[in-house]
Amino acid sequence: MSRSVLTLMDFRPTYTAMLAEKYDLHRWDEVDDKQAFLDQVGSKITALVTSAGVGVPDGLLDKLPNLEVITSFGVGYDVFDLDACRTRGIRLSNTPDVLTDDVADTAIMLMHATLRRLVVGDDWARSGQWAANGAMPLTRSVRGKKLGILGLGRIGQAIASRAEPSGVEVGYFGRSKKQVDYHYFDDLVALAQWSDILIAACPGGEATKGIVNADVLSALGPDGYVVNIARGSVMDEPALINALRDKVIAGAGLDVFYNEPNMDPAFAEFENVVLYPHGASGTVETRNAMAQLVVDNLDAWDQRGELVTPVI
Ligand code: NAP
Repeated sequence: MSRSVLTLMDFRPTYTAMLAEKYDLHRWDEVDDKQAFLDQVGSKITALVTSAGVGVPDGLLDKLPNLEVITSFGVGYDVFDLDACRTRGIRLSNTPDVLTDDVADTAIMLMHATLRRLVVGDDWARSGQWAANGAMPLTRSVRGKKLGILGLGRIGQAIASRAEPSGVEVGYFGRSKKQVDYHYFDDLVALAQWSDILIAACPGGEATKGIVNADVLSALGPDGYVVNIARGSVMDEPALINALRDKVIAGAGLDVFYNEPNMDPAFAEFENVVLYPHGASGTVETRNAMAQLVVDNLDAWDQRGELVTPVI
């Protein structure tokens, strides 16, 4: 008999269909009476498919007493209660590496778009201001700047290697010094003081909550820019909004927000901010590769009791 799998969402239609062919697949998003479903089917479910954005709804693990594995669509795992999983003997997989290039590209895109004021320039051309008022105000060059990276992991290193050809000097802050030639800082304020541009690329969760705070932003200074492709929780958003309003920093490029998708509307007021709706891994190619890795993890668990990309 095929394994009973519960997916919390249709993560990519083709790949959800693949799972439906191989497994006894249940779609949580299509179940009307969730309590009746759990009473009837909950004890049969041994695998759960979810995403780094959705996680596991409160109390659901209690209703799936025979759950063995959670395969998550996304690399971050800050939404999961790892202790609760360990206590229950539940394994967890994520989708690292396959999204690194697109996320790093997005960080670089936001860096250039913010310093070169791409959105303002686009509006300048479209709205007729160019014809009416002449050239748009001058922008800032990336070349020659110091780039600080918070979290030099897979994505952080991919950002650094893309940024270097643009003529920036790279420094980083993390829990450990890496075997790289970039400048290491064991203190985030010190990195921000050194940097002209600070890009956050670390995990979310308790350890990094609000780590980019008022002190970090004021160390970055009035000619400094911040880019966040990490998690909204990494940013102290009220401090960032104050810093943008009071010109404590020069601008920001943001892919992630504290309360997604209900972003703080204050961000929309600022001309010196470039906004992106958590789309860093949102290409057809990368989302398909992530979906394939979800399927591969589930198959590896089903066939060999192993995960391809385990978190725990
Ligand atoms: P990774 O390879 O595990 O790298 C994480 C890096 O962050 C490591 O260098 C690590 O340093 C550092 N770090 C961990 N905890 C830290 C802390 N408390 N303080 C400072 N640095 C810390 O992960 P990755 O694949 O590069 O992904 C990084 C993060 O990017 C994910 O966790 C996710 O939140 C985010 N992300 C966002 C998107 C998006 O759509 N915007 C997409 C994918 C990923 P050590 O090596 O010293 O531990």
